[in-house]
Amino acid sequence: MIDPGAQEGPAVSDARARELAARLQHVRERISSATAAAGRTRPTLIVVTKYFPVSDIRILHGLGVHDVGENRDQEASGKAAELGDLLTWHFIGQLQTNKARSVVRYAAAVHSVDRLSLVRALGKAVAAEQEGRAASGAVPRADLECFLQFDLDPEASDGGRGGALPGEALALAEALMGTPGLRLAGVMAVAPLGIPPSEAFGNLASISGTVRSVDPTATGISAGMSGDLEEAVEAGATHLRIGSDVLGPRPEVR
Ligand SMILES: *Cc1c(COP(=O)(O)O)cnc(C)c1O
Repeated sequence: MIDPGAQEGPAVSDARARELAARLQHVRERISSATAAAGRTRPTLIVVTKYFPVSDIRILHGLGVHDVGENRDQEASGKAAELGDLLTWHFIGQLQTNKARSVVRYAAAVHSVDRLSLVRALGKAVAAEQEGRAASGAVPRADLECFLQFDLDPEASDGGRGGALPGEALALAEALMGTPGLRLAGVMAVAPLGIPPSEAFGNLASISGTVRSVDPTATGISAGMSGDLEEAVEAGATHLRIGSDVLGPRPEVR
């Protein structure tokens, strides 16, 4: 007889915990090998949990994951409300200015800062959040870590994968540095489809040089996903954003 309730039972969640542990270990081993091969410092692993349930994030936390990435405010804010300070939340998706106020309630970092209007909106939102918390005696909010996202193939016929033009790097970096409440963490990109990832990440590393000429402390390079983490490590990534290789294939977009 089929018992639908059994699907939610402990046996199923144990199986999921074992699956996540094995996948995570495999990814950590890939990162270790890539780091050793390239002679680089080990980057921070951000596990991208978008579309996956809070129960998976709890399991991952138990396996030593501290940094998680989400790309939609509505989903992320709900998860953060449940899990809160247990984890460091990285917002990695395209962000509308009217969502800035919500994102700064939970996110420690935004990896997708790609235009001046968003710099301004995030600056205002963090200032308001910091004032609000000070007024109510709540835990203070740290400055928001901001990665400038670049489009490494602006000519792509698919409209690109989001991000500013490389030529906008200086202006954006200067604007960000001049905004109280925001800290320029570094640069971010998603490898474009039409260019080999090693070449794309090499271009990102040179944009990082431009940004560091404005702020030498902005050393972050957020690059590398499941399919190209080795190339990203080789090019000097400091933050990897890995989703499907840890969690399995994503459920269809709702
Ligand atoms: C979904 C997503 C990832 C993770 O991609 P995987 O290929 O599943 O590892 C990384 N970065 C961004 C910006 C994403 O949207």
